[in-house]
Amino acid sequence: MIIAIDGPAGAGKSTVSKIIARKLGFLYIDTGAMYRALTLKAISEKINLQDTDQIIEMARHTEINLINTKDGQLKVFLDGKDVTLKIRQPEITKLVSAVAKIKEVREMMLKLQRKLGRSEDSVLDGRDIGTVVFPDAEKKFYLDAEFSERARRRYKELKDLGQDVTLKDIEEDLHNRDTLDSTREVAPLKKADDAIYIDTTNMTIKEVVNKILDSL
Ligand code: C5P
Repeated sequence: MIIAIDGPAGAGKSTVSKIIARKLGFLYIDTGAMYRALTLKAISEKINLQDTDQIIEMARHTEINLINTKDGQLKVFLDGKDVTLKIRQPEITKLVSAVAKIKEVREMMLKLQRKLGRSEDSVLDGRDIGTVVFPDAEKKFYLDAEFSERARRRYKELKDLGQDVTLKDIEEDLHNRDTLDSTREVAPLKKADDAIYIDTTNMTIKEVVNKILDSL
C-alpha cells in the first residue's frame, strides 16, 4: 500500500508521515531529502547551480540511500556518507528548489522513489507524490497551513536544531520555495484531484495523524 502525503514546506508532512509510518509499520520515504542530498553534493563539488548539464551528470553518479532506523528516525546517506543533519542547513534549503526543478534530475529521483515505494508498504512525503510519482496510490493527502503558521513551525524546528536563523529568513525562504515549487514546469506542487485536503493551521500533530489514520 502507498500513502502519498504532499504539500508545501512547513505544513507538517514529515513529522506526520514519520509517525504514521511507524504506527503502521510502513517504510517512510522523505523524497525532499533526496533533492536536498543532491544539492549538498553540488555545493560541496562547487558546481554552478545554473549549470544544468553538470548537475545532471553529477546526479547520474550519485548514490542516495534512505534508512529507517529502529527508533523511527530517518537516516540519509549520500555516496555512503551519513548526511542526515547536513542536508537541513539553511544554505541547502535555500538552493534545493533550483536543483529539484531539473527534469532529468526528477526522472532519476522518480525511479528511485518508485523502486523504494514498491519494495514494501510505504508512506511517501513530497510535492508530487500523488500527482506524478504514485498517481494510483491507495491513499492521498494534501497537507496545508497558513503561511504565518508554516513559517512559525519551521522557525521553531530550526531553532531546536540549534540553527541561527531569524523569522524573516524563514519567511523569505518559504516564499521563494512556494513560488519555485508551484510554478516549475515539471511536476509542480499541486493537490491531486483525489487527495484529501487537510488544513493543519489550527490542528495539533496528533489530530492530523488521527485524521489520516481514520480515513485509511
Ligand atoms: O520537503 P522538503 O522541504 O525537505 O523538500 C525540499 C525541496 O525539495 C522542496 O522545496 C522542493 O523543491 C523539492 N521537492 C520536490 N519534490 C518532492 C519533494 C521535494 O521538488 N517530491
